[in-house]
Parts: sequence; structure tokens; C-alpha cells
Amino acid sequence: MEQVLELKNIHYAYHTLDGETPALIDISFSLNKGEFVAIVGPSGCGKSTLLSLIAGLLTPEKGLIKINGKYLRESTTNIGYMLQHDELFEWRTIYHNVLLGLEVQHMLSAKTKAKANELLDIYGLKGFKNSHPSELSGGMRQRAALIRTLVLEPDILLLDEPFSALDYQTRLTVGDDIGQIIRREEKSALLVTHDLSEAVSLADRVIILSGRPASIRQTIPLIFDLEQNTPLNRRNSPEFKNYFNLIWKELNCDE
Ligand code: ADP
Repeated sequence: MEQVLELKNIHYAYHTLDGETPALIDISFSLNKGEFVAIVGPSGCGKSTLLSLIAGLLTPEKGLIKINGKYLRESTTNIGYMLQHDELFEWRTIYHNVLLGLEVQHMLSAKTKAKANELLDIYGLKGFKNSHPSELSGGMRQRAALIRTLVLEPDILLLDEPFSALDYQTRLTVGDDIGQIIRREEKSALLVTHDLSEAVSLADRVIILSGRPASIRQTIPLIFDLEQNTPLNRRNSPEFKNYFNLIWKELNCDE
């Protein structure tokens, strides 16, 4: 299996005037090409910190991060980041929101615009190109945000609780929908979430973190005996409950 991301013995602590807050202790794992890995852990344990380190927004105190075999600093790999809020600009149309990343990275061309149009078409937003974000549902907005990320052709997608701002019902459908788009586009993705059912319905593997400072408690591969391995079919399968309970127990067991 081709590795797109490798973390080895990562340690990180925040330093403030009040002292030191250790956030991550000895984190090692890898992400294979086309794989979808979910990271779960209690709120405040260090999940977003981990994604910030991979995105290069923070630098680890110890340990190494390699992307496509190169140290993070030397890597030219494109990393896409999707956050809790879709960060769409109301004063721009959906089309111009989708082009924003391309504009910022000076990648706007006939070819990349055609790709943006193709994705808007495939994922049902063609008729909303000239609409503004407030005219779209929460789910459509997240699709637009994902398309804005996908047109940059990222090798790795980092998803930081991207559905948690949505209400429960919408979260289910949008989570399943976005998960399927990521599969279809064959992206390698790292999803951080505190929602266990989201993790079990979407991922190939779940990494369970301990409370802060986070260390890896366990890694659980998710195997479903399904003809069509969609998030919805997973939710309705007998394995779903078993995995959910297993991860729940592991998260809640005493240190
Ligand atoms: P999670 O994403 O799992 O909720 P975070 O990675 O956001 O957790 O935060 C981990 C811990 O680090 C938290 O306890 C938080 O208080 C602390 N922390 C986060 N950002 C900072 C910061 N800029 N300065 C100091 N402490 C921080």
C-alpha cells in the first residue's frame, strides 16, 4: 500500500504565560492512498491540534511528519482542509466561492474553471452557480465548500468536524453524501470527529485517542460484509452496532 502520510512519535505542547499544556504524546500512524481514516477522542483531547500539525500550521516539538515520502517542510503535496463552518463568502456567488482557492493560489485557468464547472454539475449545484450561500441549504453549502477544496486537487483531505455545525438530521445525510463524494473522487482523507456513528459509517479505520494529552489508545479497522458499502448501508448493518459499542467502550474505559 502506498503511504501518503506518515506521523512518527509526534509530541506537542502549547506554551502560554500560564504554563505548558501538553496536547499530544507520541502519536504515530499512517494514511494510505485512497484510505479514509477517522480520529475520535474526547472533546479537547488534541484532535484539531493534530490536523494543524499535518497542515503545517503548527510545528511538532518532537517527531516527524512525512507526506508522500517527503518531510512536511519540503513537501509540495496539496493538502485540502475542510472545517466545521463552510467559510463561504456571502458576497460571492457559489461559483465565485468555488473558484476562490484557485484564485488565491494563482491557478485560475480555462482547465481549472472547467473542472470547477464539472464538479458543480456532477454534484448537483450547477443550477445554483449564481446563487449566494444564504440561498442554499446547509448540506448544499457543505457540498460547495467541498468542491472548492476538490478543485485544488488535494492529495490529502483534512476534515475537522465538518458536519458538527449542522442539525442532527442534516448531519446524517450530509455526512453520508460528502463521504461518498470523497470515495468517488478517490481521495485520502483524515476525519476528526467526536461523533462515533459518523466515524463508523464513513471510515476504513478508526484511531481512538485518549483524553488530553492525547495518545493513541487503539486503532480499529472497519470491515463490513456489504455488497454496496455506502454509509447508509453501514448504518443499517449488524456490524455497525458492534463497532460503535467497541469504540464507545474503548473511549470510556478508565486510564
Ligand atoms: P480537540 O480538537 O480534540 O477538541 P484541540 O486540539 O482543539 O482539541 O485542543 C487540545 C488542547 O489544547 C485543549 O485542552 C485546548 O485547551 C488546548 N489548546 C488548544 N489551542 C491552544 C492554544 N492556542 N493555546 C493554549 N492551549 C491550547
